[in-house]
Amino acid sequence: MKPRSTERGSSCVNRRRTGKPPAFLYCPFSLIMSEDFALEAGRLRIAGITPYTSLDYPGKFAAVAFLQGCPWRCLYCHNPFMQPREFDPHYVHSSWEELVGLLKRRRGLLDAVVFSGGEPTLDAALPAAAQAVKAMGFAVGLHTSGCYPEHLQKVLPYVDWVGLDIKASLHDKQAYRYITGLSKSDPADHALHALKLIQAAGVDYECRTTAHPAYLPDEKVLGIAHELLELGVKKFALQVYRAPKELNLPFPNVGYEYPQAETVRQLQSLFPCFELRRG
Ligand code: SF4
Repeated sequence: MKPRSTERGSSCVNRRRTGKPPAFLYCPFSLIMSEDFALEAGRLRIAGITPYTSLDYPGKFAAVAFLQGCPWRCLYCHNPFMQPREFDPHYVHSSWEELVGLLKRRRGLLDAVVFSGGEPTLDAALPAAAQAVKAMGFAVGLHTSGCYPEHLQKVLPYVDWVGLDIKASLHDKQAYRYITGLSKSDPADHALHALKLIQAAGVDYECRTTAHPAYLPDEKVLGIAHELLELGVKKFALQVYRAPKELNLPFPNVGYEYPQAETVRQLQSLFPCFELRRG
């Protein structure tokens, strides 16, 4: 994820602070839901909103709400300002009310809302917000690294599609720790647990991996693909690492020589649905 755009494609509308607060709109859910419920959804911490994208939820036009906070510190994170739970004072953040206002205006134009981040399952208000979005008639998408399986379980009943990040081999705890910047916990276990929960819930999903030859040479990419295949994954996307100019990321951009054409061919033959994403 990145400061103004995500590793998943769309742009995050984060505005430099100008002194003007964002417009706060009233919440129509108070009319159709209990006050407590609307209050809970209203606690969602939204760092920014992409009002319209066709890239973040396959086959749907969606708005994306980027939620503040993530416990991981991935080497290639495009949204480091979203890692702390507190909003970055340099940016004007968004709000639940702003999202609701957008959905009211875009009814008929948008199919779905994607909750992204940061790590959206960190936010305790997510299940209420997902229910509220569904009650408005929109599909709910979720981008997650799977770092909170128990939180994920609570929101899955209200989710229609999940994009689950697989950072490295699920059997390689060291590699997972290296990429996520964690030294003690086992993020690979969490991601595997999350995958199993998503499968058990019967929710449509894809697994995706952000890859650079420095930490995922072609043979490792294929290793991850075979692991996922054995776990029953049908949809896989390989997202080639990209280093935006404004971020000081540790690896340079790579050319079209990565991944090799033979690797792409194998990935295409392994999965019923495979996508190579660049840029
Ligand atoms: S999971 Fe990693 S890439 Fe995503 S927001 Fe957290 S640190 Fe950034």
